[in-house]
Amino acid sequence: MEHTHLRFRSTLSRTKPESIRNREAACPFCDRENLTDILGEEGPILWLKNKYPVLENTYPTVIIETDQCDEELSGYAKEHLHSLFRFGIHKWLEMEESGEFQSVLFFKNHGPYSGGSIHHAHMQIIGLDHYDYVQHIQDRDFVGVLIDRKQGVECNLSTYPRIGFYEFNVILTDLQQIPDLADYVQMLVHYTLHHFRGCSSYNLFFYRLDGRILVKVVPRYVTSPLYVGYGIPQVPNNLEEVVKDIQTRYVLHS
Ligand SMILES: [Zn+2]
Repeated sequence: MEHTHLRFRSTLSRTKPESIRNREAACPFCDRENLTDILGEEGPILWLKNKYPVLENTYPTVIIETDQCDEELSGYAKEHLHSLFRFGIHKWLEMEESGEFQSVLFFKNHGPYSGGSIHHAHMQIIGLDHYDYVQHIQDRDFVGVLIDRKQGVECNLSTYPRIGFYEFNVILTDLQQIPDLADYVQMLVHYTLHHFRGCSSYNLFFYRLDGRILVKVVPRYVTSPLYVGYGIPQVPNNLEEVVKDIQTRYVLHS
């Protein structure tokens, strides 16, 4: 059978805790004493097996980013931010290089429109037994209007978003520059949550392509019907204006 879809365990999924919409629910990631299957840790950062393997033929893991339930990536101190990105990227690459998986996903959900279910800040690394995510990725997914660039790393706003409307990209060509990549991602997440159309949700997606590490920062709203029904992505006609706004708020002052 050709692997076009990942199979989702619907019944198991219903038993998963939910603390994004239900903020009264007990937080499983604050209950550190009862967390099991720990794979690694560094200070308050904890990497463990996901208790709810909702996708068949995968090895799902979670990075709990902090021991503070209400902390969020855009507010992290630089030192913590850099440790988190170094830790996460290295664990992801380790899993890729283990040869046990056809490919390995690394991503983050935040907020009610992100597809996430736990409020406490976390990322996910998921090994896929029979699926290569790169088959759906193209170079032009990361082409865009330049926001800023430093040695070995740049960020832009997509000219050919995969779905639409706004998709920010951070492109790393030199693995030594992970802290700069983290700073750009933090800037774009801060912009998304604090200065962008009342947005409360975003995803981060990490990709490895041609020796580069690429990250998409995607503000999330309800998905466009033209995409759901027809697969037509849309691109806004004011990309330059958004880029200027970010440059004015962040880049020109730094
Ligand atoms: Zn918590």
